Amino acid sequence: MQIDQKAFHARYGIIMLTMGCLAVKESGGIKWRRMSWNPVTGCTKYSLGCKNCYAERLAKRLKDLGVKKYRNGFEVTLHPDVISKPLKIRRSTIIFVVSMGDLFHEKVPDDYILDVFKVMNKAQWHIFQLLTKRIERAVALREKLCWTPNIWMGVTVEEKRYVYRLDLLRKIPTAVRFVSMEPLLGDMPSLNLSNINWVIVGGESGPNYRILKPEWVKNVRDQCVSQGVKFYFHQWGGINRYRNGRSFEGRTWDETPSPFVYAGTPLFNM
Ligand code: SF4
Repeated sequence: MQIDQKAFHARYGIIMLTMGCLAVKESGGIKWRRMSWNPVTGCTKYSLGCKNCYAERLAKRLKDLGVKKYRNGFEVTLHPDVISKPLKIRRSTIIFVVSMGDLFHEKVPDDYILDVFKVMNKAQWHIFQLLTKRIERAVALREKLCWTPNIWMGVTVEEKRYVYRLDLLRKIPTAVRFVSMEPLLGDMPSLNLSNINWVIVGGESGPNYRILKPEWVKNVRDQCVSQGVKFYFHQWGGINRYRNGRSFEGRTWDETPSPFVYAGTPLFNM
């Protein structure tokens, strides 16, 4: 199914403008609440960006604290008890799908992924953002899945050897295609950003963080500007990411592919 971008923005813009009780207008944009939804938790390392996986650290900590949902630590675990959760949330929300793993992990059955999509297809008052490194599996399943316009599909491209993932993402018939370059681990070559709507760049945080060089950020930002793609700079990272902030060349870069702005920053740590 091919999605018309203008129709998508018109539709959701109108919904938001007629649902004033659910939104806060600010700085000329509309702020949406954000949350993450984890019908799957756990994962296994897949590419260079996984080395210091934040979700793995957090899952192990939650297991040590005795949190029932994380009794398996970072092993891939299905949570069918939370699959219908978005249907019970009436307020329009930007929902990040599976922040504690990867929905397209090989241990997640096809039927389970289909069930997750069915909920997203029903809950069209929300926007769902899916991010994966396993874009091959999303491509293999794309004909079985229904890509309603409230589903945004993203892929992580943290190093130049993974640029081929952009071509795979372009095969997905989704309303919004986005790329997370977080943690960005090197300079990017000439990028073909055609049919890509949004690029997010960020550095790694935590005790073993890898350095993010300003010239790498500049190169990606310049390519986004010259190709008309929205650019979001998330953070410099480091041991204390809050101290290092997210200003680049004297300003913040908060572009998003929709008329809505975030009540916070994206959750892309995959
Ligand atoms: S970074 Fe993402 S893909 Fe890699 S291990 Fe962590 S959750 Fe899985």
